[in-house]
Amino acid sequence: MFDVLIVGGGMVGASLACALGDKNNRSNSLKVGLIEARADLLQGQFGADGRASAVALGSSHIWQNIGVWDGMLRRGVSPMHCIQISDGDYPHSVKLRREDIKQEALGYVVENATTQAALWEFIDRCHNIEVICPAKIIDIVKPKIGSDKSIEVKISSDLGDQFLSAKLLVAADGGRSVVRSLANIATTQKHYDQTCIVLTVKTEHSHHNIAYERFQNSGPFAILPLPSNNQNNPNGDRCCIVWTAATAEIPTLIELDEDRFMQELCQRFGADLLASLGKLTIESKQRASYVPQWMHAQTYIQPRLALIGDAAHTTHPVAGQGMNLGIRDVGAIAEIILTAHHKGEDIGSIDVLKRYQTWRRWDNLGVIMLTDITNRLFSNQFFVLQWLRRIGLALASLLPFKRILMHFMMGLIGRQPRLPKQADL
Ligand SMILES: Cc1cc2nc3c(=O)[nH]c(=O)nc-3n(C[C@H](O)[C@H](O)[C@H](O)COP(=O)(O)OP(=O)(O)OC[C@H]3O[C@@H](n4cnc5c(N)ncnc54)[C@H](O)[C@@H]3O)c2cc1C
Repeated sequence: MFDVLIVGGGMVGASLACALGDKNNRSNSLKVGLIEARADLLQGQFGADGRASAVALGSSHIWQNIGVWDGMLRRGVSPMHCIQISDGDYPHSVKLRREDIKQEALGYVVENATTQAALWEFIDRCHNIEVICPAKIIDIVKPKIGSDKSIEVKISSDLGDQFLSAKLLVAADGGRSVVRSLANIATTQKHYDQTCIVLTVKTEHSHHNIAYERFQNSGPFAILPLPSNNQNNPNGDRCCIVWTAATAEIPTLIELDEDRFMQELCQRFGADLLASLGKLTIESKQRASYVPQWMHAQTYIQPRLALIGDAAHTTHPVAGQGMNLGIRDVGAIAEIILTAHHKGEDIGSIDVLKRYQTWRRWDNLGVIMLTDITNRLFSNQFFVLQWLRRIGLALASLLPFKRILMHFMMGLIGRQPRLPKQADL
């Protein structure tokens, strides 16, 4: 029997496996199972879909404590020195600078493939983690109320169907979580009439580690500075673009030939930014598209079951917070599980799991609601709203408001997890 069985080895589930992982072969470590459906993750193929995530400073601290941040640094991360927020081509923009809060960086931009590679390398070194991959969870056998000390799941793999049991099942199987459905946990959802196109571009000049959030009529347009890896482009850099457009526009945009697509793309950058970044060249092989969604599970816990990451909540990518919330879930649940385990408590009991839900629920809900309001406010041309957001941008330029906004974006508001460092275990 496993102590903890994690379903889903995406960035959140794999981070939890690492947080519970033991590289030192200690006698009292937890027995952890990680079930993942995608065989390519086990084979070390983390995809070149061009996706990158803005990693809040708070998330980088959690990864440092777990011991996986060095693996990401080694592969290449790009610090964000400034985040510039503007309302279309309105000349006044808010610049959030690292100097404003005396930090080395406001956060980092890390390609998802880099994050996954570092996490799976770490998992591979932990003696207490069994990776069950490729395999899919297909059923849950619920614990008997008040009696059973474990939960049983049915999985399907090349070996056929199998039953596994654990003291605690953690669902990290993404926004369409099968575990959440099997457990009959209801959700509150809102759909956006928007779709995000993600691609990577090479720039002629340096991005100077500045991230841009340009709000436009059809949706926000984000430019994230990536680490440079191109020796043929010594003065230039790479950026990841998250281009949110009205869903009706997407089929036309995706089908445009390279020249017309580039014209449309350049229009979204605006003249000033194009002048500073110079000529753009598209690096990605495909124009990948994702449909954003607002979703919040009505509960994160049941006896012997917890939801984390996108399985518990999803948010519009406009503020770059979805994965960061998931990493904060990881920090919280890992601290609670490890503490309960050391005290000899039952880690799957509802009393222990309530500590996780109480810790995380309001932070998650607050962030996804604020993100939703921001997206709706900025994707609207109604003149009163236009006037309101320009007042909002002016206020956000004032240092006290700016600092609150920065702490929010950096994931430094609220209780921070105190995970023991691997070296201290
Ligand atoms: C365009 C875009 C840009 C974004 N940018 C940012 C950003 O800048 N910053 C940020 O913080 N967030 C960002 N996000 C959000 C972020 O990508 C997600 O919040 C994050 O990837 C969620 O990770 P997860 O591990 O919870 O879920 P997932 O990444 O969905 O992983 C789920 C895993 O579970 C596995 N799985 C699924 N079902 C089963 C099953 N039945 N059995 C076994 N395994 C299963 C899957 O194969 C997968 O590996 C962005 C999202 C989008 C769409």
